[in-house]
Amino acid sequence: MEKQILVFATNNKHKLEELNNAIGDSFIIKSLKEIGFDGDIEEPFETLEENALAKSSFIHKKYNVNCFADDTGLEISALNGKPGVYSARYAGEACSFEDNMKKVLKNMKGKEDRSARFRTVISLILDNKEYSFSGTVEGEILKTKHGEEGFGYDPIFRPNGYKESFAQMPLSLKNKISHRGKAVKKMIEWLSEDWD
Ligand code: IMP
Repeated sequence: MEKQILVFATNNKHKLEELNNAIGDSFIIKSLKEIGFDGDIEEPFETLEENALAKSSFIHKKYNVNCFADDTGLEISALNGKPGVYSARYAGEACSFEDNMKKVLKNMKGKEDRSARFRTVISLILDNKEYSFSGTVEGEILKTKHGEEGFGYDPIFRPNGYKESFAQMPLSLKNKISHRGKAVKKMIEWLSEDWD
């Protein structure tokens, strides 16, 4: 079977690495850079679903390619689900991963309930139709940072059933249990069924 080309509407190198590690060799994944797009795509909405669709449809309209985009949020129970859809900009526009983690740790000081989850929504546009896939992972917010791997909030998130934070795990393990890993697995299984 000829390999299908799918554009992943991101230039986040960590997400691309995770995706390539998870997807095996049935598909060829291209980044935005590889198709000549270097800018940012706006994420103006208040749900992960709408933002994922905004990104996939922007690229689909511009380049007329089969593509997918993900949008992810960290939902912390004691903060009423925040930072949620605002996870990238929790500490303000143009803030760093460090700034965001600092703000979470500050707001979580003294909170007994440290439960949290990551949620990813993928919007896939294939042959002009949109399909959506989601994945979640439950865990807790640690009191300090642990580990150097990964990105975003990984050093302060420990998934349930594991002693390590996401940032202390090899990528292959994070992918097996993570929000994005699960959503990607659903998408790949669906794509494989459809094309067999
Ligand atoms: P995005 O809008 O999907 O890029 O995700 C929003 C923010 O969530 C990112 O800027 C990261 O801070 C955080 N994030 C997304 N995925 C992960 C992950 O797998 N681990 C840790 N943080 C993540």
